[in-house]
Amino acid sequence: MIIVMKAGSPEIEIERINAELSTWGLNPEKIVGKHKVVIGLVGETVDLDPLQIQEVSPWIEEVLRVEKPYKRASREYRHGEASEVVVSTPDGPVTISEHHPVAVVAGPCSVENEEMIVETALRVKAAGAKFLRGGAYKPRTSPYAFQGHGESALDLLAAAREKSGLGIITEVMDASDLERIVEVADVVQVGARNMQNFSLLKKVGAQPKPVLLKRGMAATIEDWLMAAEYILAAGNPNVILCERGIRSFDRQFTRNLLDISVVPVLRQLTHLPIMIDPSHGTGWASYVPSMAMASIAAGCDSLMIEVHPNPKKALSDGPQSLTPDAFDQLMKELAVIGKTVGRWELPVAAVV
Ligand code: PEP
Ligand code: MN
Repeated sequence: MIIVMKAGSPEIEIERINAELSTWGLNPEKIVGKHKVVIGLVGETVDLDPLQIQEVSPWIEEVLRVEKPYKRASREYRHGEASEVVVSTPDGPVTISEHHPVAVVAGPCSVENEEMIVETALRVKAAGAKFLRGGAYKPRTSPYAFQGHGESALDLLAAAREKSGLGIITEVMDASDLERIVEVADVVQVGARNMQNFSLLKKVGAQPKPVLLKRGMAATIEDWLMAAEYILAAGNPNVILCERGIRSFDRQFTRNLLDISVVPVLRQLTHLPIMIDPSHGTGWASYVPSMAMASIAAGCDSLMIEVHPNPKKALSDGPQSLTPDAFDQLMKELAVIGKTVGRWELPVAAVV
């Protein structure tokens, strides 16, 4: 249920309403949007009468029920307003949201050594990326495949962060690593395989860094939003949804089926920002540029692209990784589409 306050409602009145509702055993949550303040009520609200709440204050504009099973993740919960995930990076805050330029995340699948991660960071930054991605802990189908360098790779990410100024995105697989990951990461990634690891979701929801929640490979959109709800319910409002392809019957030519239709669908259902990962989505570097362009045209808020200095030698996901040169070229192509849809950061001199 949400309580929509009238424009210009005094702060003291909002506090009074919250205090009153707390005495009813409710847990009101104040949500400050660009245009309106909304008070969210999640929990035992089925027996509540909206009219009774309406009477609590003349500053209440309306009281609406959120019918969806995902409450906090639903678009209605913020009365239709998109949320803005503001990530602090060494170079300054980067906002990932529907009303901001597309934020590009790039980097290797795994952090392999200092030289490659620093080189990749500097190259992707020069091309316009805002975040460096790289796995320290890797979820691999085979226990015999490279599992990531673990904690020592986090130190390498910290070095790349310092040298490049980029924000860092890296995956947590085990809650026992979370504390150490949070020291280095600007955004904590929950991978496709852990999308429904509910105890992990509660823990990433209880730490302060924004969370990138990848879609499970066989997750419906509702499963995915319910997973986001776990993080929001645990107190972390900064969740970014990342589509990375789902399993289909045909894996002959693509690794996954990249579902770009999630962009307009999620836009309707949720206020959370949307990232697309065409690298895992297709599995092949040659398909990444067209899918990245299509994602921007569809209206995504962010892109994740795997880039490796020498994809042929990569310890994981080489076939889907772009070289730094190919990434440079791609960013030039993306700029054309990004500018056309009004979602590309312009050089300072070009801002009028
Ligand atoms: C990754 O981003 O490297 C990764 C393992 O992704 P996913 O969880 O989407 O497979
Ligand atoms: Mn990968």
